[in-house]
Amino acid sequence: MSLTFDPVPMAPPPTTVTQAAIALGSNIGDSAAILKNALKALDQHPQVSLVCHSSWYRTVPVGPAQDDFVNGCALLETELAAEALLQLLLSTEQDFGRVRLEHWGPRSLDLDLILYGDQVIASERLQVPHPRLAERSFVLTPLAEIAPQWIEPTSGKTISELAGLLGEAGILERIA
Ligand code: AMP
Repeated sequence: MSLTFDPVPMAPPPTTVTQAAIALGSNIGDSAAILKNALKALDQHPQVSLVCHSSWYRTVPVGPAQDDFVNGCALLETELAAEALLQLLLSTEQDFGRVRLEHWGPRSLDLDLILYGDQVIASERLQVPHPRLAERSFVLTPLAEIAPQWIEPTSGKTISELAGLLGEAGILERIA
């Protein structure tokens, strides 16, 4: 006698949702519109949802002489692993016509992964927390608006504390 069993439907594996902080910048084209549209594009990815974004700021460029930047930060919830999220950020930069003429030169869209949960990642392609976070007021000032209590895991300090230590040099004005 052979017994047959109806297959038991398998529950899908649980998905892990991680909160990520990204920084956005642009100094070519209609920068404010580019940054808002980039957030819309990220939010349309099935494994990414936009939680909120900061105000937008006009900031002094770092590197060669060029136009002022518009910068801001956003919080995402994502089921993507950090490397896959980086890949999405890089392909979104390309979709918005990023042309890299020179290192730290002008760009239509720059997206950086700043924080990914409480993870510390140091691979060849990806470093998280972003290694220059503590020296960038154009990241810390907007990030402190939306995630003041998030602990930066390498220093153990909150974003609010790091922003207070650095100050607001380089921030020209809050646009909206
Ligand atoms: P940039 O566009 O000048 O910010 O540099 C982008 C390159 O930096 C990418 O090719 C990444 O592989 C690398 N990278 C390393 N860590 C990060 C990070 N946290 N966010 C964005 N890019 C990163």
